[in-house]
Amino acid sequence: MFKNISSILIVFLFAGFVSAQTPSRSVAITIDDLPVVSTRTDIANRRKITKKLLGHITKANIPVIGFVNENKLYAGDKRDQKQIDLLKMWLDAGLDLGNHTYSHRSLNTIPLTEYQADVLKGESITRELLGKRKLEIKYFRHPYLQTGRSLDIKAQFAQFLADHGYWIAPITFDNADYIFSSAYDKAFDKKDKALMKRIGDAYIPYMESKVDYWERQSMKLFGREIAQTLLIHANFINSDYLDDLIAMFTRRGYRCVTLDEALKDDAYRLPDTYIGPAGISWLHRWAREKGREFILADEPKVPEFVLKASGFESE
Ligand SMILES: [Zn+2]
Repeated sequence: MFKNISSILIVFLFAGFVSAQTPSRSVAITIDDLPVVSTRTDIANRRKITKKLLGHITKANIPVIGFVNENKLYAGDKRDQKQIDLLKMWLDAGLDLGNHTYSHRSLNTIPLTEYQADVLKGESITRELLGKRKLEIKYFRHPYLQTGRSLDIKAQFAQFLADHGYWIAPITFDNADYIFSSAYDKAFDKKDKALMKRIGDAYIPYMESKVDYWERQSMKLFGREIAQTLLIHANFINSDYLDDLIAMFTRRGYRCVTLDEALKDDAYRLPDTYIGPAGISWLHRWAREKGREFILADEPKVPEFVLKASGFESE
């Protein structure tokens, strides 16, 4: 009898030990604007950026999904095989691809029918490439995270996506990596290496402050940290710093998971009825459902010198 109780205790203690050792935080990394978004538009540089991004991902051995703008895969009316080959590199690395529309326009500024046509036009090459590997396209990401300016448009578009076998890819870890990368691009174009370094040095601390903010926002809303979803872009700064970004997540106890895995979290079953103009995190959308007082006020900002160097007027 005694012997049995002690073995049960040992099992419990062991289970406790294992759970203390296993990170409970998880994040799905999603990368937008494939194949590349940068002022460095020549194919050699696009290849270099892609290679470096994929190098970081492969080394960390984590799942990532990339969202494609297929208008970047054409030269005039013709398919540009060199650009398409960049997408193949993602698939060769064992990563998934989703639809980010053909021409990256906003659902808030063009008619729904035009937007839907842009979604369908944006899937043809990606579908072919996935199909050759017996894979299906599943996720859709709204450009600018702008999801419709009325509940009617949102409902109609949700039905359209469902009819075409798509799931919406929401994000919680919202940030302005694109502002950092624009500043980084511009500093590179001006051959200002000192400024590039200054921007690079500020990037991970900024991203970590955002992650910390969203963790607290998650606690405030749910009383726990949900499975998070990160949005970053296939840009120049991430080609240089993605390994540091992944290391930051590891240091904070995160496990990188697939989007499928992250979206199993019940948080993602909550409705999104936001119809404002901004492209905001789903954590803010859900907070609005509860009332604005649920939104933490201290959301970190891009440092002034980065914003100035980026050419953006505001975040
Ligand atoms: Zn985008």
